Formats: sequence, structure tokens, C-alpha cells
Amino acid sequence: MRISCPCCGPRDRREFTYYGAAVYLNRPAADASAGDWDEYLHLRDNPAGETRDLWYHDPCGAWAVVTRDTISHAISAVEGLV
Ligand SMILES: [Zn+2]
Repeated sequence: MRISCPCCGPRDRREFTYYGAAVYLNRPAADASAGDWDEYLHLRDNPAGETRDLWYHDPCGAWAVVTRDTISHAISAVEGLV
């Protein structure tokens, strides 16, 4: 699988570190309920199909949100994070 880094262009996925679903960028508020924090920290989806994941390109330090199909591994979009 090749991922297009926002800074470097297409690179082998082994140059990237996977950080999970991009939805986890949306942390609960500090005063959120224990249930909200439990869901954020411990419950994970395992979708079959399109997902948005957070990846880090180790050589240049760029973060990217990658939209891909978990069945075919086809990547449909890569968004850089500032
Ligand atoms: Zn890069």
C-alpha cells in the first residue's frame, strides 16, 4: 500500500505510523462524563468499508488523515493536518 504524504508525495506505507481512527482527534471535554471518556478511550469500531484514519509520516513528521477502504485498501483521499 502506498500513501501520498502531504509533503513528500507517494511513499510506502512502512514509512508511516498508524495512529487509529481520525474521529479520536475529537477528545471529550475535560469535564465530560466517565461514560464519554470510557467510550473515547476503550471502545473501537472495526468497520468493513470506508474509514478515516490518522497516519504519521516518520521521515518528515507530517500528519495526514487517510480515507481508505478497509477491505480493498484503496485510498480515496489524503488530507494533511496543520
Ligand atoms: Zn512526508
